[in-house]
Amino acid sequence: MSSVADKFKLPARYGTGEASVWVEYVRLAAESKPPVNLGQGFPDYHAPAHVTKALSEISSNDNPLTHQYTRGYGHPKLVQNLSKVYSPLIGREIDPINEILVTYGAYEALYAAILGHVDHGDEVIVIEPFFDCYDVMIKSAGGVPRFTALRLQQPNKSGGEVTSADWVLDEQELASLFNDKTKMIILNTPHNPLGKVFNMKELEFIANLCKKHNVVCISDEVYEWMVYEPKQHIRIATLPGMWERTITVGSAGKTFSVTGWKTGWAYAPANLMKNLLIVHQNCVYTCCTPIQEAIASSFEYELARRDSPDCYLRSLARELLPKRDFLVKTLRENGFNPTVPEAGYFIVADWTGLANKIDLSSEKDKYKDYRFTKKFAKEAGVLTIPPTAFYSEPHKHLGENFARFCFIKKDENLALAEKLMKEWNAKKK
Ligand code: PMP
Ligand code: GLN
Repeated sequence: MSSVADKFKLPARYGTGEASVWVEYVRLAAESKPPVNLGQGFPDYHAPAHVTKALSEISSNDNPLTHQYTRGYGHPKLVQNLSKVYSPLIGREIDPINEILVTYGAYEALYAAILGHVDHGDEVIVIEPFFDCYDVMIKSAGGVPRFTALRLQQPNKSGGEVTSADWVLDEQELASLFNDKTKMIILNTPHNPLGKVFNMKELEFIANLCKKHNVVCISDEVYEWMVYEPKQHIRIATLPGMWERTITVGSAGKTFSVTGWKTGWAYAPANLMKNLLIVHQNCVYTCCTPIQEAIASSFEYELARRDSPDCYLRSLARELLPKRDFLVKTLRENGFNPTVPEAGYFIVADWTGLANKIDLSSEKDKYKDYRFTKKFAKEAGVLTIPPTAFYSEPHKHLGENFARFCFIKKDENLALAEKLMKEWNAKKK
């Protein structure tokens, strides 16, 4: 008879079973309590008042049904509002019943899309750096991830300033990955961690490959409302012939700055959605009713002021821009070389200018960025995320010289980060 250890070992489809970067760094933050946590991406301040008010009103209303199960594929009021938000942006009427699924965060939308479409041996193309769960989800579906990395082009701007547009696709390499086994490509625009907003030329290149090889595109667009002017977010589903083969993913956590509400969605034509509905109905079945009701009311509120600059879907980027600029400046003044993001709320910064000031030999991690982020958190008191978590094993070296900083934080905490970095630098002179 096999031993307990053998019989109950982790199924190989989940890899070696190491804690994800989020589990590890959230634990690190809880244990070591760094004075400033710029690691995991969440705001450390309140969501818009009407959003939290919507939830508190639900908790005291006199309709008992808002506390019971709702429609499995999405609370009716929420899918209707999602249809109202996205139909004009996609340029077609999205059917709230058959073309939208509400999920337990964008995570579950990705999970349902990947598990619902990827079969044993199917290949899925992933652009690195990538949101780390894509890889595990593909493998747990029996699929084979194929990677191509964004490359940092030497910017020709004066002063060597790098922006996320300087991280570019290797078009030839991307095209070479498509073959008969390719089922899917996962696109993430605006991009985590780089803040890259894929431009029309890049999206057309991807779209043409998808059409040529009959491939479905999952477009993870959770940072869609945080794009800094003059950059504009383009939804790949709006390109000719792409609605038919795109599953777009969004997140209420990102949209309304309530990451703890863990509600997301996917929208796509009914024939593609069907597979996601099957996965969802058999693992989650239905998401939290009061949260869905509150998100629906929040969208209703924003739709009523859609054209006003106060609409949160427009004002969020304006609110974040000075924070981005402050952190970029702070990083430059303290020896980092940041990539200025065109979207999202992360900055990836090259720390190798500080290599002679920090002794990483006490840290035991395999990759330098893990050693740097841990030692920097201990010495400077600022916690960040190691970007090698966003690369496949053979390409991890591409992320080792960087650290990811989150800037959706109170101004006072960003100011504290500046003070701590300055003090750390002064000590190292
Ligand atoms: N995709 C990307 C690119 C993300 O950064 C995140 C984290 N918000 C998710 C998906 C998951 O989002 P959620 O918190 O809604 O599950
Ligand atoms: N998307 C967020 C980030 O990149 C949160 C990730 C997570 O909690 N898994 O920081």
